[in-house]
Amino acid sequence: MGHKKPGFETSTIHGGASPDPTTLSRGVPIHRTSSFVFKSAEHAANLFALKEFGNIYSRLGNPTNEVLENRVTALEGGAASVAAASGTAAIFNTIVTIAKAGDEIISASNLYGGTYTLFDAILPDLGIETKFVDVLDPSSFDKAVTAKTRLIYVETIGNPALDVADIPAIAKVAKRHHLPLVVDGTFTTPWLERSIEAGADIVVNSLTKWIGGHGTAIGGIVTDAGSFDWSDPRFELFNRPDKNYHGLRWAIDLPSELSKIAFALRNRTVPLRNIGACLSPDNAWFFLQGLETLHVRMPRHSENALAVAEFLAGHPKASWVRYPGLAKDPSHEVASRLLKKGFGGMVVFGVKGGRAAGEKFIEGLSLFSHLANVGDAKSLALHPASTSHSQLTEEQQREAGLTPDLVRLSIGLESIEDIIGDLEKALAKV
Ligand SMILES: *Cc1c(COP(=O)(O)O)cnc(C)c1O
Repeated sequence: MGHKKPGFETSTIHGGASPDPTTLSRGVPIHRTSSFVFKSAEHAANLFALKEFGNIYSRLGNPTNEVLENRVTALEGGAASVAAASGTAAIFNTIVTIAKAGDEIISASNLYGGTYTLFDAILPDLGIETKFVDVLDPSSFDKAVTAKTRLIYVETIGNPALDVADIPAIAKVAKRHHLPLVVDGTFTTPWLERSIEAGADIVVNSLTKWIGGHGTAIGGIVTDAGSFDWSDPRFELFNRPDKNYHGLRWAIDLPSELSKIAFALRNRTVPLRNIGACLSPDNAWFFLQGLETLHVRMPRHSENALAVAEFLAGHPKASWVRYPGLAKDPSHEVASRLLKKGFGGMVVFGVKGGRAAGEKFIEGLSLFSHLANVGDAKSLALHPASTSHSQLTEEQQREAGLTPDLVRLSIGLESIEDIIGDLEKALAKV
């Protein structure tokens, strides 16, 4: 490949990997082992002292996971990545790598449900407060900053209305206050949006969704852009001697090539190592398989979703449709600026007749699977008001932006005629 940086498509297939030097295996081997033998007492001591990188124990790192980490680093254009047991674990580990009791974070309010609960209910019990702001108003992030703020958090495309975050505008606010911008890129994947180029300092992805792409495994990963300077004393976890790691001060004591990735190193050696939500190498292997075809699948997901959105926009039984690719969508301006290759695989719409009609529509589907996941090759549907959000009152649901008629579709890779035919048939039953 010479000296030129390989293209995105090439990196989805070859990034981080080369044939195994011992066995010459072309496929990435799955290293099913808990632990690795030390070459000598000195080697062991160097590994533990971070003087030398190498494998110790699979909770901390595993060669199969490392191929996945290096591949995602290449695709996101970052400096280092850390895989975790789930997207949720990657997000939790990211927050506690940076913030501790007494600190605050600022987050867009249009979040994945599990992340909302983490920020709204679990972090406060650990002493970390979240200020929720409106993703559509970058100045609301600015207004929420206090001396206690440690990071800003957004999703590239959020729930439930699929509003697209203006990452460059929000990154400007983060830069002005010298705060790291953490972006959840799950709904776009690096194929649709390279969040680091758009201004993110840290990117998290749930591997469970489009990166895996087949609904077969749970995993997550976080990528450090390698550009954030943690030496401001506000970031106490990077500046005080860390009891979790030999009294190391992450922003001060590391040589510059490592202090660049201080976030990724602390993420691995503190929460990943000591809270323990590591990714199994078997699952890492599934995600490597998924990545190889990411650039082939994402355009088709986007193409099929756009066709579905256009079909629903013209259907008398759909009261409204949201898809960032529709010219009339409120997010279309931002989306066309940031998502140059397509608008993703999610479509949400309202069924005329409210909650009962929504349930009836779901019952009428047969190609679509009724389940709580997104980003599968198979088309999926969910009626949140009667399932994932049914414990909330109708008023609480409305506050979360969720109307009783809302149906969420994750558009798969089947023939578009069959996808639309299934929707047509289910709408006819309403
Ligand atoms: C699914 C998802 C998560 C959580 O990931 P898991 O792998 O299910 O833990 C986080 N953010 C977004 C946007 C998601 O879609």
